[in-house]
Amino acid sequence: MNKPTILIIEDEKNIGNYMETIVTSNGYKAVCAANGVSGLSMCTSHRPDLILLDLGLPDIDGMEVLERIRGFSAVPVIVISARTQEKEKVEALDAGADDYITKPFGSEELMARIRTAMRHSVQTVQIANSLIYCCDGLKIDFEKRLVTLDGQNVHLTQIEYKLVSLLARNAGRVLTYDCILKEIWGPFADTDNQILRVNMANIRRKLEKNPAEPHYIFTEIGVGYRMREN
Ligand code: CA
Repeated sequence: MNKPTILIIEDEKNIGNYMETIVTSNGYKAVCAANGVSGLSMCTSHRPDLILLDLGLPDIDGMEVLERIRGFSAVPVIVISARTQEKEKVEALDAGADDYITKPFGSEELMARIRTAMRHSVQTVQIANSLIYCCDGLKIDFEKRLVTLDGQNVHLTQIEYKLVSLLARNAGRVLTYDCILKEIWGPFADTDNQILRVNMANIRRKLEKNPAEPHYIFTEIGVGYRMREN
């Protein structure tokens, strides 16, 4: 069987080598590019199954590399960002990146992100069409628009239900505040997150045993929300 190929676009040699070691020891084939130009050309020549893209590259900006890739390919892209690039990673998600990981990261975290992104690229359609979300006692029946927690009905407002089902259909992936606001309140939604935060607080009161330490819906600070994947 052909091993899935991961293209690593990263100029820092030690981090590139580190990621290469992790992915190859987990059964993937790795190809590496040290700048944006060669990354783009390898994306065309190697047709990778997933791309790990550093945002801080010496030649072209990582964001531009992402936009150019999205011009011709829907391959899953995980952006690698530094702590100082908070704003860029949100922009990257809005520009079509599938996920991000912040330096420094461990092998487990990297592999979990890769597996989720890979699975979603294969299953996007199935997930979108699946009828039920089920995780640790929380069940959402999309057809009946019914939410139960440990068998008990949970009463959500229409907006709350829309929010929960949007996150559940994208379980495992981070959705940015902007993306959620547009999806729920439409393209002319206020870019203020306040309305989203208020709704999320209400949802957590209804779903989480301890809203301060959520089990189902996680906050990605400064970025958005991510729902637990089963
Ligand atoms: Ca870099």
